Amino acid sequence: MDNILDGLNTEQLQAVTATEGFYRVIAGAGSGKTRALSHRFAYLVSEIGALPSGILCVTFTNKAAAEMKKRIRALTGDNDTGYISTFHSFCVSVLQEDISAVQYPKSFLVLDNADIDAMLKLIYEERGLTLRDMTFGKARDMIEMRKLVKDPEYYELMIAMTPEALQEKYLNAAAADDIIFWGYLYQEKKCFGLDYNDLIKYVLHIFDIDAAIRLKWQQRLEYIMIDEFQDIDALQYRLMRVLCDYHKNLFIVGDPDQTIYTWRGASVRYLLEFDKEFSNVRTIMMMRNYRSTPQIVAAANALIAANKIRVDKDLIPTLPDGAPVVYHHARTAGEEALWIAHEIKDLADRGAPLRDITILYRAHYLSRTLEEVFLREELPYTIFSGVQFFSRMEIKDALSYLRLVSLRDDLSFLRVANVPKRNLGQRRMKFLQDYAVQNSCTLYAALERTVDDDIFKNTKAKRLLALVERFSALVSELPVSELLSKLLDESGYEALLRTEGSQERLDNLAELKQSVHDFEINCGEESTLESYLAHVALMTAGDAESGKNAVKLMTVHTAKGLEFPYVFLCGLMEGVFPSKKVLTREGMEEERRLCFVAFTRAEKRLCLTDAEGRNLDGSYRYPSRFIFNVDRALLTYTGELDPRLVSDTRLMIESNEKMLELTAAGPSFGPGDRVVHSIMGSGEIVDIDRDKNAYLVKFDSIPTPRKISMRARLERAPSQ
Ligand code: ATP
Ligand code: MG
Repeated sequence: MDNILDGLNTEQLQAVTATEGFYRVIAGAGSGKTRALSHRFAYLVSEIGALPSGILCVTFTNKAAAEMKKRIRALTGDNDTGYISTFHSFCVSVLQEDISAVQYPKSFLVLDNADIDAMLKLIYEERGLTLRDMTFGKARDMIEMRKLVKDPEYYELMIAMTPEALQEKYLNAAAADDIIFWGYLYQEKKCFGLDYNDLIKYVLHIFDIDAAIRLKWQQRLEYIMIDEFQDIDALQYRLMRVLCDYHKNLFIVGDPDQTIYTWRGASVRYLLEFDKEFSNVRTIMMMRNYRSTPQIVAAANALIAANKIRVDKDLIPTLPDGAPVVYHHARTAGEEALWIAHEIKDLADRGAPLRDITILYRAHYLSRTLEEVFLREELPYTIFSGVQFFSRMEIKDALSYLRLVSLRDDLSFLRVANVPKRNLGQRRMKFLQDYAVQNSCTLYAALERTVDDDIFKNTKAKRLLALVERFSALVSELPVSELLSKLLDESGYEALLRTEGSQERLDNLAELKQSVHDFEINCGEESTLESYLAHVALMTAGDAESGKNAVKLMTVHTAKGLEFPYVFLCGLMEGVFPSKKVLTREGMEEERRLCFVAFTRAEKRLCLTDAEGRNLDGSYRYPSRFIFNVDRALLTYTGELDPRLVSDTRLMIESNEKMLELTAAGPSFGPGDRVVHSIMGSGEIVDIDRDKNAYLVKFDSIPTPRKISMRARLERAPSQ
């Protein structure tokens, strides 16, 4: 193909054609990093003759992976696109080939949060725990932490211990967090489940213990490329280092100004210090922006310039002038949504397809008002909400049927054994659970063994067993899409939805079938039920996106790496964006980078909006400092702001910035220090809570220790 090198600038050409060694591209938003990456892939395949299966191309989301596959297919005309995937998805591929190294079966299960919650629910019920003992969110964090601390013994433990041994630990545990931790490991092991973090850790562990497997993957992956490198975390970095250690061909691209996942453990350091870690690193810089109008680029440059911890660099626009960046201040959230709806209708009247319009916000809950107004205004929209599609009831149910047939695991059994009703209600489930615990078997096996018991008279238990048997035999014969359709039909699940008259749910099932079909086309021979189930747990909303002509709604995090002709960024209020959770100067800079990511998604038009009103805690909402970070001359306000609102906002922001400076200094006291508080009197520092930026202080006059913000005025007690 001759168009691979067309439409590339000098730096991109260099990045695409320099194929050997360590390369780093540090470049601004919309400067063509991802484009360089996909053209490089095509160049390797079409010009060098490298095999796609020898190239690993890591993207940040599944959606980005799908888009890159499309681009590369168009460039090479080849359907084989090798490993273009997220780190997690790549790890699933490794495990599908090599998980036997840790004595796990290929039918291991990838667990998403909903699966983990279902396991927790089981444990809580069994052991009489309630959410007051620990919320599921906290429990997940706790498990994650304990697994980390136990690293590396954790694997040995998980791999060596039988389900029975884990069960014993669980049954003997007394403290709530021990019960939850061991109960979870037991559940995980019983179904050979792996959560997201396990995926990478298991791969690293297998590489550690089995040099032959490691070498096989190292030799196989002749070229490794990584997009969005500014948001790589320690585990991913370790994996990448191992993988490139044989051929030593590594090509990474990133933009330090778009680091938005440090809260999840990512670090921009890996990008900035890349040249110190590897030898002969060549660095390519690109600053010209090909995505957005000069107006949008100017606003984005002004915004990010307010960050102090950064290398100064401005994006240089290349496109012709466009519409001004607009700022609209609304009196209420409803009014804000209505203004956006009208603007959208106006754009549509002037010929903009709705699918070209995207609304971005800081957090999911902000979509509620928009949805209400859009429904009323009859504006079609699609929400991209990370987990939404694949965590819908009907989708989970359908996938559970597939899993039950393939794995006969407890999670799926619990979900669908009695949907549609088979008279297997709570009492009979409890009977099965007790039997399963006593005999250390799965619920399905329990039912198989006890189905002739009186308790299952007048139930459809036998029919359920027959259904699973029959379909298990079909797994290797039918394509997944057909299996799914038949299963939904013969299980009576689809009929159930039909009698319930829920068209939306049926539509979603149709969408799911479509996504299975797409998967088969994408993966060809590899598209077994096992691989579908393993990958589906990693999928998110956007992956099953329909091509319908509707406005898109999503969080800024979801929009990372994407571009849209028309962007509305709404909810730009203090306490919302920047989020009120920000307590440090670094945190504030990350919020500003996130806002920068939002600005730089827009191609033709960018509109910023905010709404007055009150937060849940009663505090008043002011326009975001991010609006004031952009020179007034670069924005077109739809109306003048009330001067009092402006001065109040300024005061509020100033005092907040002062607070951030104070906390930036870190704790001034340590445990054991004697302090004096102007109101509470003297006391002693017991502990420091760095997450909350607070001290735990035992005041002499109060019996219990109290958390006191580091912002509070504490003086060192005069020594006696
Ligand atoms: P981000 O930081 O947001 O991920 P990016 O650097 O990956 O951005 P791309 O998505 O690769 O940028 O490119 C942005 C837009 O500019 C795309 O529409 C792309 O097709 C276009 N583009 C990239 N390079 C060129 C070029 N040399 N000539 C014309 N258009 C280009
Ligand atoms: Mg990109």
